[in-house]
This record gives sequence, C-alpha cells and structure tokens, in this order.
Amino acid sequence: MSFLRTVSPRPSASAIDKAKSRLSQQLGLSKLLTEPEGLLAYAGDESENTPVLPDLVVLASSPEDIQHTLRIASEEGIFVTPRAGGSGKSGGAIPAGGGIVLATLGMNQIVDIDRDEHTALVEPGLILGKLHDAVEELGLFYPPDANSLTYCALGGNVAENAGGPRAFKYGTTRDYVLGLDVHLMGGESMFVGRRTKKGVTGYDVVGTLVGSEGTLAVTSRILLRLLPKPQSLMTLVATFDDAYACSRAVSEILRLKVVPRCIELLDRLALEAARSQGIDVDAKAGAMLLIELDGAEAALLEEAERAGEGCTKAGARDVSVAQNGTQRDQLWAARRSMSHATRKLAKYKVSEDVVVPRFKIGDLLAAVDRIRERIGFKMLTYGHAGDGNLHVNYLYDDLEQEPLLESGLEELFREVVRLGGTLSGEHGIGLSKARFLPLEQPEPLIALQKRMKSAFDPQGLLNPGKIFAGSHRSC
Ligand SMILES: Cc1cc2nc3c(=O)[nH]c(=O)nc-3n(C[C@H](O)[C@H](O)[C@H](O)COP(=O)(O)OP(=O)(O)OC[C@H]3O[C@@H](n4cnc5c(N)ncnc54)[C@H](O)[C@@H]3O)c2cc1C
Repeated sequence: MSFLRTVSPRPSASAIDKAKSRLSQQLGLSKLLTEPEGLLAYAGDESENTPVLPDLVVLASSPEDIQHTLRIASEEGIFVTPRAGGSGKSGGAIPAGGGIVLATLGMNQIVDIDRDEHTALVEPGLILGKLHDAVEELGLFYPPDANSLTYCALGGNVAENAGGPRAFKYGTTRDYVLGLDVHLMGGESMFVGRRTKKGVTGYDVVGTLVGSEGTLAVTSRILLRLLPKPQSLMTLVATFDDAYACSRAVSEILRLKVVPRCIELLDRLALEAARSQGIDVDAKAGAMLLIELDGAEAALLEEAERAGEGCTKAGARDVSVAQNGTQRDQLWAARRSMSHATRKLAKYKVSEDVVVPRFKIGDLLAAVDRIRERIGFKMLTYGHAGDGNLHVNYLYDDLEQEPLLESGLEELFREVVRLGGTLSGEHGIGLSKARFLPLEQPEPLIALQKRMKSAFDPQGLLNPGKIFAGSHRSC
C-alpha cells in the first residue's frame, strides 16, 4: 500500500474529546473504540490506499446508534466515514480526514423475508453470501454476487452499487433495492423509496443513494427485491489462444442473442494464476471464458449449444461443460480468488475496473498491450467480459515506478473514455480515482453533483475526500 490520500485539517483534539464523551454517555462505552490497537482494524480497506487511523470508532448496533452518532458528529463538526465489510477497492471506507468510523458490520440481521412478495428486509452488516444462502433455501434468488461475497456486506454493496459476474443477465445491486432506511448528518432519519415492486412517486432518491459511496447518507435497513431461484445451471469453459479471441467470442455470443448469466474472461497471466490455484486448464491455452447459463433445463441445452457455437466461430481451442457441481465450484473458487491470487505475482498491485461497450473489448485489450509495452509493467486482465467490465491490473515491485504507473493509469482512462466507456463499473471512484473524474465528466456535471452532496450534507462532513478531488481540501 503506497498511496497516502488524506483530507486536512483533521478535527481538533478538543472536538474529538467532546464527541467521545457525548457518545459514551449516549451509546455506552462498550460501543466505542478509542485505543490505537482497536482503531487500526478500521483504518484501511482492500484498495491500494494507505490506511488512515480514525480518532474514534462507533460500533453501531441499531438505527438509533447511527442517528445519535450523526447528530453529535454534526454538532461537534467531526468527519464520519461509514463502513460495512471493509472489502472496498477504492478507499471508500478509509477515514481520509480522521474523525469517526461508523461501523455497521454488527448490524447483520435478516429482519424479514417475505416469500409471497419476494422481498427481503436486511441490515447493512449482513454478509452477502449469507443472504444468498438464506433466500435460496426458500427457493428465492438474490442475483448480485460480488466475488467478495463471503466478506462484503449489503451496506457496502448498496453504497458501491456492487455488481458481480451475474450482472450480465441480472443487473447490479441498484436493480434490486426497493427502499432504504437512511440517516443524514445531523441525525435526520427517513425511509426512502417504496415497498412495492413498481412505483414512480417523487424523485428516485434510492437511485441517487445507491452508488453514492457513503457520501450522502448512512443506511440502517435495506428492502430488497428477490426473484424465484433459477431451475438449473450449466457452466461452460472455453479456451482460446489469446484474449482477443475471447473478445470475439463475446461479440459472437451477443450476436446470437444468447443471455448467459455470466461471461467471465481470464487472460494469459490470469490463467496462470488460476492454474496455480489447482485449476486444470490446457497448458497451451492463452485465455479462457467461463460462461454460465441458468433457467429451465430444456432451454439450457439449446442455449449452451449456441454459446459454444459462438466460441467455436471465434476460434476456441476447446469448449467443455463442467461435469459436476464440484468441478463448477472449483472453477468459481479460482475465479473468485483471482484478486488475491494475482496479488502474489508482484510486490504492488493496482487493479482497475473500467467498462467499455461490449463490442470494444478488443480495443481495450489492445490499449492494455500498448500501455504494457510503454511502461514495462507486468499487466493482466480478467473480469466480467459480458458487461465490457474488465479488471486491468498493474503489477510492479518498486515504488520508484509510481510516476510510470500514474501515466499508465491516465492513458487507460483516456482510452476508455475515448471508446465510450466509463472509469468504474463496480468499485466506485472513492479516493483512488477522484483525481481522474474530470477525464470522464464535464465540470457542470461535477458541479451539479457537488450541489446534490450539499443538499444531503451541507457541512461536508460525511465521508470526506471521496469521489470529488479537491473537495474537503483533499491532498
Ligand atoms: C477479492 C475482491 C473481489 C471483489 N469483487 C467484486 C465484484 O465482483 N463486484 C463488486 O461490485 N465489487 C467487488 N469487490 C469490491 C467490494 O467487495 C465491493 O465494493 C463491496 O460492495 C464493498 O462492500 P463492503 O461491505 O466491504 O463495504 P466497505 O468497504 O465497508 O465500504 C464501501 C463503501 O460503502 C460505504 N458504506 C458502508 N456501509 C455503509 C452504510 N451502512 N451506509 C452508507 N454507506 C456505507 C463506505 O463508506 C464505503 O464508501 C471486490 C473486492 C475484493 C477484495
């Protein structure tokens, strides 16, 4: 971790002392962490940003705890950074200006699952994988499936509008959030959204809050829409000579109008990492697509044939079907551990999550090749090819290479915008990409969003330094 991105000035020692004493009276001492050893676990996340120690951690266990914290922090002029699982990849949960980390991971209950309405009411600290298990037991299905599903939580998923492999067919978190209980700086609390499947009353405040990276409000309850669980699954593995052939296969599959639930791409180096995880893939293969279909069994066979046809037309070396649940689980375990497995390939790794139009994946791969050649880094690409959302990873061993990294990142983002794409598909802008936002968004749009932020948080105290560089005097 080598990037120290902070906000100054930090809250004054006297303001912190006053807040500590008021919070301990209101919530009880057991819900506060104030000692450095305790604070350390709340300083960082899974991004490349250097952790920043908060002054205080509040371990919220109820909506009232959140409300009181936001009221007292506002009155004392102290920054608050909400946090759930801490698995974020853009520094969103890092308390860049110190102050309070408001930890919501302890609020981890499924309050209700309505089997008839197909909804679930959950708390923000509920781990995503636990929600999957609970609803699937009842024959229901919550599609968003971030690869961090064993340790990311719903509060963070909502704040980042998390996606995952299944977004190709089912969309992202935003498509499943009906309503939210939220709390604003100052302590004002309200339910936003609706409890019904349809509804267009008033502005789409839920749509604004989902993906707002914890900068507008803190969530204490989330009402989610569920689907019936698909009847059957089929997983195909297609190997190719190189990633360009994979991108052609994605185009062919789209042209054939097959809608798998996932189309995941692994390039040559990513495939090596998968092999190191014990996945048995043809040694000569230079890239792979993992394609998963779901639905009624009869339709699956026909869809699988057409997906296979698309791969063959694009020059696949081989297309096979995972033979059983164990083989399928093994393939997904390797895919889901890709982020950690590839971290072992170099001392430092910066992972981007750019998106391009799906027919331009080949252009993105070509840009990555050009950048690799120019800056001389080891680079690898994998991810949600069906959505045009690829994780481009920069691997390096020496901090002196960081100016080159910076120019390599800028080249990637400029190229993505030129291709009609966007800087982030699921990780958010956070601290990591705030300085690059103007490459994609014009000043009037950034100014409009800053006015929206002021409407929710006029003092600018909630999650400072995120999304907009230069706001909150970020350095
Ligand atoms: C190995 C790995 C794989 C990943 N794969 C994916 C993937 O496939 N798809 C994907 O989308 N992401 C992925 N991620 C990124 C990350 O897991 C997601 O962004 C996830 O949604 C973050 O959830 P969290 O609970 O860990 O949030 P945190 O890291 O705790 O916080 C993330 C953001 O949410 C805000 N926040 C947290 N709780 C609240 C709350 N109660 N109210 C308001 N704001 C809040 C924080 O302030 C912060 O800005 C991956 C990460 C890792 C490490």
